[in-house]
Amino acid sequence: MINPFETYPQTFAAILRKKHTCETIMLYADEDREPNGEPKLNARLQEHWVEEACAYGQCEYCHGWQYNEWFQEKPTDSEVQELILKQQIKVDLAKKVKRKKYNELINGADKNNGQLITLCIDKDYKQVPKLAEEIISVIIKADYDCLLDAQATIELYGKSETELLPHIHIVTKKLKPDGAVAQLFRRKFRKDKYQVYRVDVKTLPYESAEAYVMGEKEGAKLAATAKDKAYRLNNSLQDIYDLTA
Ligand SMILES: [Zn+2]
Ligand SMILES: [Zn+2]
Repeated sequence: MINPFETYPQTFAAILRKKHTCETIMLYADEDREPNGEPKLNARLQEHWVEEACAYGQCEYCHGWQYNEWFQEKPTDSEVQELILKQQIKVDLAKKVKRKKYNELINGADKNNGQLITLCIDKDYKQVPKLAEEIISVIIKADYDCLLDAQATIELYGKSETELLPHIHIVTKKLKPDGAVAQLFRRKFRKDKYQVYRVDVKTLPYESAEAYVMGEKEGAKLAATAKDKAYRLNNSLQDIYDLTA
């Protein structure tokens, strides 16, 4: 879904800058008409206001009290830009609300309302912390349609405390099928630039996926989680990244 105020700012700027002109039409006056409504032979067309307010002298535009629908006086460029920006934000918010409603509609009673997305990063890559944060910031900027209430975490071990296995976990409300989500992330991140060699997506209750991302694990994984936390602290990484705030 596009945001028209973002895609066509120049068009909206032109509309917002334009002074309102009150419409008129050409009509025959009543005295120039035959009783049956036909115009007389020498009838002349006269200009009439379309809006009654103009004809009765009650029109704010005719009086010059209002410049156009949006501005009282001729707007400056920065006033026009500001209004366009406000409209962009309004549309963005409306999009989010719509997505939420869609999600409730689709997944209302369904327990499988979440997804866990895992991106595995090549363990031989030297700058894992930097790369992982770069991937996360790309995801935030992309504002993907398949993500809602999404959070991410970076893990280095995850499975066991001895095996290095850098990866990113993302939890989201489920909006799209697993396959579609996996395909999207593979297309975007399975490139040399991102060093992602594997993408897994699975459906599960949102709460479970969220708990997993928050590091609530058991057994051997718990020790690995503690090591991950220490690693993040040492590399100034956040424990949790909000992807769709
Ligand atoms: Zn008028
Ligand atoms: Zn993990």
